[in-house]
Amino acid sequence: MTASTADISALLLAWYDRHARDLPWRARPGDPAPDPYHVWLSEVMLQQTTVAAVKPYFAKFLANWPTVEVLAAAPDEQVMAAWAGLGYYSRARNLVKAARAVADLGGFPTGEAELRKLPGLGDYTAAAVAAIAFGRRAVVVDANVERVVARLFAIGEPLPGARKTIRARADELTPDSRAGDFAQAMMDLGSGICTSRVPKCLLCPLSGACAARAEGEPERYPVKPAKKAKPERVGNAWWIVKDGSVWLVRRPATGMLGGMRALPDDGWTAQRDGVGEPPLAGDWRLCGAVSHVFTHARLTLRVHALVDGESAPPMAGEWWPLDALDTAGLPTLYAKAARLALATG
Ligand code: SF4
Repeated sequence: MTASTADISALLLAWYDRHARDLPWRARPGDPAPDPYHVWLSEVMLQQTTVAAVKPYFAKFLANWPTVEVLAAAPDEQVMAAWAGLGYYSRARNLVKAARAVADLGGFPTGEAELRKLPGLGDYTAAAVAAIAFGRRAVVVDANVERVVARLFAIGEPLPGARKTIRARADELTPDSRAGDFAQAMMDLGSGICTSRVPKCLLCPLSGACAARAEGEPERYPVKPAKKAKPERVGNAWWIVKDGSVWLVRRPATGMLGGMRALPDDGWTAQRDGVGEPPLAGDWRLCGAVSHVFTHARLTLRVHALVDGESAPPMAGEWWPLDALDTAGLPTLYAKAARLALATG
């Protein structure tokens, strides 16, 4: 990559001048900065929600409470009711608290650190308001920006550890002037061009400077954390058949497959292997094994058969006719085990 960080910022701002999204809380590039109340309100609403979903709520809030002082004087219940449907209601509660704090201060603070002290304003929102409403140089990193930066620099470290590097790179890219436009340009690029699944690199103003594009596989950035391997468990199931019926049990109400009908087994759980001891003496035959993936473990269940043995099963259960086994409601794991036993019988 040959472009300097200054080149990248300049390319992005030039693109933003031509392609900025028209949003009700925004000022057009070159226009005076937008009202901090609008910027803050939209940023709080946009957390976890799409632009399309936010627009009507933003309009309704401005119609009901045109300034932060009017919002500060509103009863909590009214604000909560107007927020209904946007989700994450703690945001609405903090919204009113922050509006009251701003009204007490006589207006929004203009610096990132002071904004950060308002209820509900995290690093991202404080930086966004400081940059967009007050033109302060602030490093604004949301999930969109994270993705763009990780790709531009092909940052191979997986998330969440990579966040420090991503932030440092975003800091290098952020220009001293037009920090608000730069932040919004990054957001627009991330949401419309450098999308997570199929980035539109051919339309991207930064394609010539993008390391991930040069590698040919931009979707692999940001690198996701490795999935934790599931524990591998081993258990045994007992296929006890007499006079054309099989002995079925009811699993304990709690735990995996709780309350389901099943073959007797050796007490395997997601936390430990089964004990492996057959429940009664006899001429057991190993039919094979079935495997099954649960949310918290992978299980290999060995299936052992005892046909027309001498002793009665020692555990509570019932004889179930083999020719009506499909009516027993066995969960998939035990249905697989039963099929295996039948197929190898
Ligand atoms: S070139 Fe492609 S991967 Fe790189 S920033 Fe642009 S859209 Fe994203």
